[in-house]
Amino acid sequence: MGIKLEGKPVAQAISEQLKHRIKMLAEKNIIPALLIIRVGMRQDDISYEKGILKKCDELGIKAVVKLLSGDVPQEELIKVIKSANENSGIHGIMLFRPLPDHIDTNAVRNVIDPVKDVDCMSPLNLAKVFEGKADGIVPCTPRAVIEMLRYYNIPLEGANVVVVGRSLVVGKPLAMLLLDENATVTICHSGTKDLPSVTASADIVVAAIGKAKFLDEKYFNKNSIAIDVGINVDEKGKLHGDVDYDKVFDKVKGLTPATGGIGSITTIILLSHVVLACERLLGGEIVK
Ligand code: NAP
Repeated sequence: MGIKLEGKPVAQAISEQLKHRIKMLAEKNIIPALLIIRVGMRQDDISYEKGILKKCDELGIKAVVKLLSGDVPQEELIKVIKSANENSGIHGIMLFRPLPDHIDTNAVRNVIDPVKDVDCMSPLNLAKVFEGKADGIVPCTPRAVIEMLRYYNIPLEGANVVVVGRSLVVGKPLAMLLLDENATVTICHSGTKDLPSVTASADIVVAAIGKAKFLDEKYFNKNSIAIDVGINVDEKGKLHGDVDYDKVFDKVKGLTPATGGIGSITTIILLSHVVLACERLLGGEIVK
């Protein structure tokens, strides 16, 4: 019987540490502040925003939403970001993606101040992840995976970890963070031959491909730790991971659920980046 690796206690533990840091800032009359920029009315963005606002409220982080219409000109969006960069009352900036097609995401990514870039959009922060430098801000989901593994005391030093998926948002940066932990990392993708034999020989498998229930029991062994990053919503609105939870749970040592797994840690990671950005801006520890 496997262990259900739930995200809630992980998020709770991070939350407790954050409360302490926010209290220390409050003693200096500083409230960490996040600007959320939403372009348009995508339902996914609205739900994520709701979760962020609720958590900010609980923790004592100030959150402001700047809503722009779906057809906002790129220049106007850039103006909003530049003004937030210069506003000393804003410590973190978060912009929902994907942006509408008429906006060049690359142009926007380059404008955001790397110090305030709490969702790791800036190429500079991403480059730091690949250089193994700790003074940037790492993408939230890869960091959520690392926090999950740490919380459940799953050793990474020397572990064979297979990451399935090579996107710049999840797979690639996660592989870099795992290397920093001295894991031996294999990255798989749609061109990988005999994927089940690659994953089944690993100690830890991270699935981030975006295909509902794709990895069944033949992708694992009885000692596997399976981390499911996938979020796939079916036609009835039900959420499924990339791992077939029902078929796999009994056959592995540990598995994260699709609901209440990695996704439940990412918001608190984002907010931890707001607090970190605030501390860095105050401490003069600004690395550009
Ligand atoms: P993505 O950009 O679509 O990348 C998917 C990756 O999976 C690609 O590298 C692709 O390979 C690979 N892939 C697709 N089919 C495959 C197959 N049959 N065998 C092996 N590899 C395959 O997706 P993403 O943005 O990384 O997101 C991945 C999943 O994580 C999605 O379900 C997304 O919703 C979810 N997600 C969750 C969170 C969270 O907080 N939990 C955050 C972000 C994303 P190629 O490169 O060869 O095409």
